[in-house]
Amino acid sequence: MPAAQNRTCLICAGTDLLPVLAIPGVPVLCNRLLAHREEAVAVARGDIDLVACRSCGHLFNRAFDPALVGYEGSYDNALHFSGRYQRYATATARRLVNRYDLRGRRIVEIGCGRGDFLRLLCGLGGSRGVGYDPSAQEPPLAHPLAQPSTGTESDDVTIIGDIYRAGATQDADFVCCRHVLEHLLDPVAVLRAVGEDLERTKGAAFFEVPDASLVLDQLSLWDVIYEHVSYFSGSSLVTAFAQAGLSVRDVQSAFGGQFLWAEAVAGAGANASPTPPSPAHHASVASFAERVDRLLSHWRNRIAGYRRDGVRLALWGAGSKGVMFLNLLQLNDTNDLPYVVDINPRKAGCHIAGTGQRIVAPSDLRRYQPDVVLVMNPEYRGEIARSLREHQVRARIDLVLPRRSHDGADADPGDAPGNTSAARIAWA
Ligand SMILES: [Zn+2]
Repeated sequence: MPAAQNRTCLICAGTDLLPVLAIPGVPVLCNRLLAHREEAVAVARGDIDLVACRSCGHLFNRAFDPALVGYEGSYDNALHFSGRYQRYATATARRLVNRYDLRGRRIVEIGCGRGDFLRLLCGLGGSRGVGYDPSAQEPPLAHPLAQPSTGTESDDVTIIGDIYRAGATQDADFVCCRHVLEHLLDPVAVLRAVGEDLERTKGAAFFEVPDASLVLDQLSLWDVIYEHVSYFSGSSLVTAFAQAGLSVRDVQSAFGGQFLWAEAVAGAGANASPTPPSPAHHASVASFAERVDRLLSHWRNRIAGYRRDGVRLALWGAGSKGVMFLNLLQLNDTNDLPYVVDINPRKAGCHIAGTGQRIVAPSDLRRYQPDVVLVMNPEYRGEIARSLREHQVRARIDLVLPRRSHDGADADPGDAPGNTSAARIAWA
């Protein structure tokens, strides 16, 4: 069933698809909590065959099999332990409350996780919230880095441990949905269902997804994960809303170019023609394979150099980026890189999918004293440096994702080849 569907663009049904990146056998779930090393190295694997739609600029994995992916139970991709992320989430919630007068309203969140953002949004305006998430079975965990209670938290939130079903938003004044669409084989269907409900309530919607330009322009290869069927560009996100009969009010890139959000209201006619991607987007797609080759050899050489010099390595960030970095470079826990640090206390003691590293808390680095800490997300560099100082760790930080350019390998949009083959990552 999916194989047939995936021959056309998931957003605009276009058939002009350009191969972009092929990676066989990657761990299917990066954020599953794995208590034992044996289960971590034996996780289920799936293939990535990333293609780009020339009509709307959408990127998607046409080899995606939804039967391999399940989010129930011990799945954790919460980001709210980071102060940097907390500030972003709080600023977003404040902006939405003011712009849409979300005071005393009914708010529905699709894919609410443990409800952190929904509580924030409802608390700021005294609204009532209902969240849907199949993985939400435990209450939120208090953490020292989480913002202290300032009267902005609300208890008037109900979380339903189930997937969102059409019609569930029919009494909502506002619908939010963050980092969900990219996981779905048919994201337009969800948008269409929300659009039909908002038609009745005259409400608005906020959807946030990872920004495809993070992968294409900033060359964050480690953000290509099996869990994400889709990588939205501005043009494909606008096209998705238009296909669903929603009228987009605003689209913006946020969080250092890592996220892309759109706000919309009901009202446009469905099935509008695709919004074409920019020439820069086409150029990034065309040069992607060559830049991926250079990126991988850069990191293979760098890690080989560290190994030659006897440098003690640790990696900071057990999220998707860290898991994919370790897996694509095949860095294992026996001699290359024994520990991965994460500030999410739920992950401490668990293991990295595929490569098996033990996940430790920042305080554990005091004993190990690494020489170099590889940092997966530049947005967290400041708080990581502070944490290292706090625990008397004198390691140097090596950023895995420099902003905007990498090793001089950025595409020149005016000088891109018209057509290339896909980047192909093969295991040694
Ligand atoms: Zn398309």
